[in-house]
Amino acid sequence: MAEFSIIDTYFNRKNQYSVDLGVGDDSALLTPPPQQQLVICADTLVAGRHFPLDTNPHAVGWKSVAVNLSDIAAMGAKPHSILLALSLPQIDHAWLKGFSQGLYDCCDQFGVSLIGGDTTQSPHLTISVTALGWIEQGKSVLRSGAKVGDYICVSGTVGDAAFALHHLGHLLQKRLDYPTPRCELGNILKNYANSMIDISDGLAQDLGHILKASNVGAILDIDQLPISPELENLEQNKLLQYTLAGGDDYELCFTLSPEKYEALKSNKIDTPITKIGKITQELGLHFTQNNQLQLLEFNGYQHFA
Ligand code: ADP
Ligand code: MG
Repeated sequence: MAEFSIIDTYFNRKNQYSVDLGVGDDSALLTPPPQQQLVICADTLVAGRHFPLDTNPHAVGWKSVAVNLSDIAAMGAKPHSILLALSLPQIDHAWLKGFSQGLYDCCDQFGVSLIGGDTTQSPHLTISVTALGWIEQGKSVLRSGAKVGDYICVSGTVGDAAFALHHLGHLLQKRLDYPTPRCELGNILKNYANSMIDISDGLAQDLGHILKASNVGAILDIDQLPISPELENLEQNKLLQYTLAGGDDYELCFTLSPEKYEALKSNKIDTPITKIGKITQELGLHFTQNNQLQLLEFNGYQHFA
């Protein structure tokens, strides 16, 4: 019975955004908007692996939603709702209260509803969120669409989360604990970008996924990487480690033609966008600095490495 009281107490809020039936029945019901495709993704956070056990539960709740909305945004889609599969070692009301508040705060910020899920007991605290979104038929931006000559751009700043992980307590910890999914920008980019990905495992690795899927290469100008002022005085190796191989940025990396780039720049967009390189016919990821080719090897985070 405890399971039902947890659901009712923490995960059954009434105010929802365009949902026919939410938490409480065997399944939820939604009416798809006409001519739209359903976009779905899932992401799991395991305590002790994706976040330290003593992480503020509010931040865990926020982040478990945010990382999924980031995947929806990276398709160019608009997020609509989430499902939450929660495995708990024990019932800790203080934790559940903070967690559900953080989860709903992120939902509210992006107009998303929690429409269902599952609650179980297990030795490990595991949070699995499934996110749903909508996009006009055929408008989604895939990893496979990069074209030779495209500019490569990135939103916001890169490396903050990795920096924060090595400087716990620093102001930038907010970027690690409360990532901002670039929902509005992603949705705008469906009209501009040829390819897109969100950066969860490091810019080099995630851009690498675009290059592989599109069968192209890239040249990145490391002097152009957008970084926070706090990272400016770091020694170059460390800086590149954080910006190119550091995970958890949840910024968007996308490619677009030079014409579309100019057109995009004429929009008023709140999120900063920086051009960092170009798609090339020659395969592989190459780097320049002061117009000189640089030899760098970077790997992002790998779960089974
Ligand atoms: P069933 O046994 O039919 O799968 P459950 O008893 O698991 O249903 O869940 C009851 C209702 O509560 C369902 O609508 C389910 O989607 C919802 N639910 C269960 N756990 C959660 C959760 N952690 N967050 C949101 N909704 C949940
Ligand atoms: Mg059932």
